[in-house]
Amino acid sequence: MNTRRFPIIPERIKRLEDLAYNLKWSWDYRARLLFKRLDPQLWKNTQHNPVRLLNEIAPERIIDAANDPDFLREYEVTLKSFDRDSSRKEKWFPREFPDIARQKIAYFSAEFGLHTSLPIYSGGLGILAGDHCKESSDLGIPLVGAGFVYPQGYFHQRIQSEGWQEDVYELLERKNAPIESASADPDQRFLVELNVGSLSVFVVVWRVNLGSVPLYLMDTDVDENPHGDRELSARLYGGDKEHRIRQEIVLGVGGLRVLRALGIQPIVFHANEGHTAFMLLERVRELVQEGASFEEAAEHVRSTSIFTTHTPVPAGHDAFPFHMMEKHFAGYWDELKLTKDQFLDLGRFNDSFNMTVLALRMTRWCNGVSHLHGKVTRRMWQVAFPELQEDQVPITSVTNGVHAPTWIAPELGLLFDRYLGPEWVDRHDDIPFWNRVMEIPDEELWNVHQLLKRKMLAFVRERARSRWFEDHVDPKQVIAMGTLLDPDALTIGFARRFTGYKRAALIFHEINRIKALMLDRWKPVQIIFSGKAHPADEHGKHLIHQIYSLAADHGMAGHVAFVENYEMHSAHFFTQGVDVWLNNPRPPLEACGTSGQKAAMNGNLNVSVLDGWWYEGYNGNNGWAIGDPPEDLEVHYDDNADAEALYQLLEQQVVPLYYNRDQQGLPHGWIQMVKETLRSIVPRFCARRMLKEYASRMYVPAALEGERTRV
Ligand SMILES: *Cc1c(COP(=O)(O)O)cnc(C)c1O
Repeated sequence: MNTRRFPIIPERIKRLEDLAYNLKWSWDYRARLLFKRLDPQLWKNTQHNPVRLLNEIAPERIIDAANDPDFLREYEVTLKSFDRDSSRKEKWFPREFPDIARQKIAYFSAEFGLHTSLPIYSGGLGILAGDHCKESSDLGIPLVGAGFVYPQGYFHQRIQSEGWQEDVYELLERKNAPIESASADPDQRFLVELNVGSLSVFVVVWRVNLGSVPLYLMDTDVDENPHGDRELSARLYGGDKEHRIRQEIVLGVGGLRVLRALGIQPIVFHANEGHTAFMLLERVRELVQEGASFEEAAEHVRSTSIFTTHTPVPAGHDAFPFHMMEKHFAGYWDELKLTKDQFLDLGRFNDSFNMTVLALRMTRWCNGVSHLHGKVTRRMWQVAFPELQEDQVPITSVTNGVHAPTWIAPELGLLFDRYLGPEWVDRHDDIPFWNRVMEIPDEELWNVHQLLKRKMLAFVRERARSRWFEDHVDPKQVIAMGTLLDPDALTIGFARRFTGYKRAALIFHEINRIKALMLDRWKPVQIIFSGKAHPADEHGKHLIHQIYSLAADHGMAGHVAFVENYEMHSAHFFTQGVDVWLNNPRPPLEACGTSGQKAAMNGNLNVSVLDGWWYEGYNGNNGWAIGDPPEDLEVHYDDNADAEALYQLLEQQVVPLYYNRDQQGLPHGWIQMVKETLRSIVPRFCARRMLKEYASRMYVPAALEGERTRV
């Protein structure tokens, strides 16, 4: 056992410390309840952060717990299952691929959405990376993650009284975060010096435990670095291009060197989005330095590397001017045995060095994140493969999924325990198994849903109350934040990044039409919005302003709310508590979208355009589609038609079905659709199905190819 970080914990329950420092607790409801039991109010105040809870808890409470037989019983059961999970040899991957299971697979990502207590993600990409790692642990895939800890993270959002977004940065308190030194001695820093071209920086390495998957996070905020370099990892997506290229060098090249310094030798590498692609160059450099030719080395790297691209929006693909590349990689190309021009050719695209093009050229296994996005991506990047037809471009697709144990509400999980059997967690990607959902009594399913809805509304009110009390905000803001929401009204949720193509304001296209629906005396409708705009996205900020103004407008009667600071914690409440999840991006720009999957897993119905995952998920009975399937892959601009289709659905189908009740107030038709949603979506859009695809279609073949191309 390491040095004790929480000396106040009595010996009898000292392993609470191990639990707190393994985020596995966050998807194990027993462990969650155990921490909550220690001090329910503090648990809530810390936003479910056991490290902070153990730092702040009153000593007498923890001594009481150590003497409480009920607590001790739960403690033993929780630890037993925790230990069994970490050592389980009979998990899926080791059972199917025992040889490869003894090796390591590296996963590089610029962001990881793991838990609210670690704000190192901005949105979908990060959450996906987090879910990827969590599910890998559950399946026994020997993944090792590499990324950054950003001490100032992504910004917190406040909305000022006039409705404009304010970006607030808070310093991460490392002692309250679920990170520990990567060093064997927790009191020692794990410091690595990186020299790449003109860049020379020190990074300190932290480890996050996700079940059996370790994640190594680099932090440049160390005394040894000059001021500018200390700021390198300060914020996620902050700074200019110069800052960005330096960050990406540290991420890709540095990340690999850190793994080496830790003695980790993966046989397969996965680059999550182009930000991480310098890792591929560094792998080639290592092999060339050991004596291989560039071509031999590149062939081995390609055959053992996976690249996932996440967006069809061109601005989402990093590109650097050549002079910047020359400045930072001066001399590096010699170590690759390339000339400067050959080196620049590796990413050459439209007169700059494009990270996606680099990744496409240096990996054999490339994919988009939904079936439709795969097609869009092949068209988009055919330019990088001029000799091939569009449908031959070697980019496939693996549709994203979400980590079921993280996103399904525990209250619903308990209902599944009763009617599907406790094995539902282990079998949650088994399609026929989910037919059992049909056996859940309507009333019980509805009661759990109503409970989750009330919890969400309580959360919304609590936030508004604390802003009123602590920050003395304007009364109008307290209303805009959702204090007047009606627990019995049909509630639509729209929570995601605010950016033009997602069209947050589409539902207000004809204001009188939506107002008539909202203000209907017998069948009211209300809408909760939440989401951040990127600090540089003026259009996104205007959209927030527009919606916030409506939320504060008397004429909307408190039926529109904007809840500040969308992040994982609030995402749980919204995706679990609304009735309808609305998604109306401009097709085909939503590569996949995952929040609708979270809503569906909690039995909430999607109303969505047929873009991203919904193009595959919609079956005619499990929610609604706005408009027709896309006819081609061109960007679709017809807001009038989409708004019309949305209104017709709401007026003619969604609202009537919701309010069609029996004498006890149960909407049987609606509940039928909820069951159909659970049955058809949980097993197909979970991270488990996704990881099994990555493993069997890419990781394992890449590992075998690696044997053949070894140099
Ligand atoms: C799931 C999630 C997202 C991604 O949602 P999209 O549907 O892809 O927009 C973004 N932010 C948070 C906090 C999430 O939980």
